Order: sequence, then C-alpha cells, then structure tokens
Amino acid sequence: MKDGSRIEIGSGSMRLIVPANADDLASVLVKEPAATIVAGSTDVGLWVTKHMRDIAPAIFIGNLDGLCGISEDKGVISIGAGVTYSEAFSMLAKRITALGPLFDRIGGDQVRNMGTIGGNIANGSPIGDTPPPLIALGARLTLRRGDKRRTIPLEDFFIAYGRQDRQPGEFVEAVHVPVPGSETKFAVYKITKRRDEDITAALGAFILKLAEDDTVADVRIAYGGMAATPKRAFGVEKALLGKPWTEATVEAAMAAYADDFTPLTDMRASAEYRALAARNLLLRFFAETTGTRAPIQVSRHEAA
Ligand SMILES: Cc1cc2nc3c(=O)[nH]c(=O)nc-3n(C[C@H](O)[C@H](O)[C@H](O)COP(=O)(O)OP(=O)(O)OC[C@H]3O[C@@H](n4cnc5c(N)ncnc54)[C@H](O)[C@@H]3O)c2cc1C
Repeated sequence: MKDGSRIEIGSGSMRLIVPANADDLASVLVKEPAATIVAGSTDVGLWVTKHMRDIAPAIFIGNLDGLCGISEDKGVISIGAGVTYSEAFSMLAKRITALGPLFDRIGGDQVRNMGTIGGNIANGSPIGDTPPPLIALGARLTLRRGDKRRTIPLEDFFIAYGRQDRQPGEFVEAVHVPVPGSETKFAVYKITKRRDEDITAALGAFILKLAEDDTVADVRIAYGGMAATPKRAFGVEKALLGKPWTEATVEAAMAAYADDFTPLTDMRASAEYRALAARNLLLRFFAETTGTRAPIQVSRHEAA
C-alpha cells in the first residue's frame, strides 16, 4: 500500500480496488460507476453482514491522499470525505463549540474512529446526525466526477428518501462548514432513548442572529428524524423572522411545525412524540439563548 500505486485484488463478487489517491479514485469511478465506495464501512459493513449484499467491486477510500485533509480558510472549515469523526471533531468542536457534545453522542469510539462525515452525508439517511447541524450552519458540498467538480448547498443534496443529487461516477470530495460569527447563537440537540450508542429519534439544529432591537434577523432550523430526508423547518423559520425573540413569538411559531413535518412512528419513537419533542427543542433553544429556565446538561462524566 505504501508504494503509491493502485491496488486491485480479487475478481467477481470478491473484487476490491484501493485507488492510489483522490485523482485515481476519480478516474476509477468514471470507469466503474456502479462500484460501492467504502469509507469507514460503519454503514456498508452492515449491508454485508446483515443483508448479505454483494457490494463488489468495493472501492476503499479511507486514508486516500487528497481526501483526508481538514483545513480552515477565511472562516470556512473544509473537511475531506475520508476524514473520520474523531479527526473532524478535533477541529470542529474547537471552532464551533456547540458541536462538541454531539460528537460524544455519535456511536462509540470505534464508530467515531472509523466513520466519516462524508459517509454520513453520502448515505442520505434521514437520521444521520451531521447533516442537520451542517445544513443549519450553511455548509456546502463538493462533488467530483473525473476532473469536474461542483459545489452545492448541502441541503440540496438530499432529494428524497434514498435519493441524493449524486450522478453515476461522482463522489463526495469535501464538505465546507462556515464557522458562525460570535454574534450568532447555534445549538444542536439529539434525542435518543439511551444517551450513548443510540440512533437518533429526532435531532434539531438551530442558528440564530438577532438584530440590535432583539428581533430575529436571520434563523435557520434543520431536523433529522422528522421527514424522509434531513430537512429545514422553513415554516417555523418564516414565523420567527423579523419578530421579537420572545417566548410568545416562539410559542406562536411552534404551530408551524405541523406544516413543515409529518413524522413517522417507528421503533425509535412515535409520530406524536417526535412532533412534540421537535417543537420543544425550539423552546429549549429559546431558554438557552435567553438564559431563562435553561435545562441542565448532563455530561458523560456526571452520568457515570
Ligand atoms: C454501532 C453503530 C453506531 C452508529 N451510530 C451512529 C450515530 O450515532 N449517528 C449517526 O449519524 N450514524 C451512526 N451510525 C451510522 C454510521 O456510522 C454513519 O452513517 C457514518 O458516518 C458512515 O460513515 P462511513 O465512513 O462508515 O461510511 P461507509 O459505511 O463507508 O459508507 C456509507 C455510504 O456512503 C457512501 N460513501 C462513503 N463515502 C463516500 C464518498 N466520499 N462519496 C460518495 N459516497 C460515499 C457509501 O458508498 C455508502 O453508501 C452508526 C453505525 C454503527 C455501526
């Protein structure tokens, strides 16, 4: 693996390709658009072990030069698709501190050390934990096919359940996350049955900018677990925009959730629970941003 050339092993259903670098990945994928990209394999692994799916040819992209970078330029953090949660959050949690507690709630150490944010986005799950906060932050996604790149708002990537804006032969190259200014308030809340190692029932992410007179100058709200894709709460945002940031405004805006989302009942939560919890997260965000009745945060250390 260290000589810098492409590896191809096996044949038929046992075929594995490890490209030499990101450029090589781009040319392999143009020739093999039906191949399965494997990054940390924390999702793909289950397709094989639980569903016995044939994923050949598998293209392993962990550790590829050109995909493992994480850097900040002009207030935007760019994270390569091969960067693991642990690596990404070492910078993200420092620069966007509200993301720190979320990291602690994604899988366990093994998943965080292998799983990637690129994989979390690319799999298009409605309950992936990173898309809602990244959408709220205004993140953009770079996709690449051969030598051609395009960069789109992350929220546009999610078209419908199981359908993303990714063409054959295209791959996720990087996600770009603007660091919010000190004048904005940002929070993300994950709701699960267990604190650790649990998949999201509902997750809400909020970013808010107040004008000098404490009216809402800008707000973006995105949820996971509430629709077939990670989704903005456009109606709620509209109900808040330009209004004074008060409990009365928040209570009134909570009615708009019913138009924005029709959540499902499944083993993680009922539709009614999801609808109520989602609304209450806005109230929590209000309480935390105004210092009134802010709920107690339980850290891993205290919980133990
Ligand atoms: C025990 C356990 C706990 C988990 N807990 C959580 C959790 O708390 N929160 C959460 O959100 N998820 C959780 N997951 C799901 C999973 O860990 C995440 O979705 C993870 O981010 C997937 O990243 P990966 O690198 O492992 O992706 P992979 O499994 O390698 O790939 C996932 C999908 O993305 C595609 N893909 C990967 N990289 C690219 C790319 N660069 N371009 C195009 N397509 C690509 C793959 O082809 C596949 O379709 C958990 C999984 C396990 C097994």
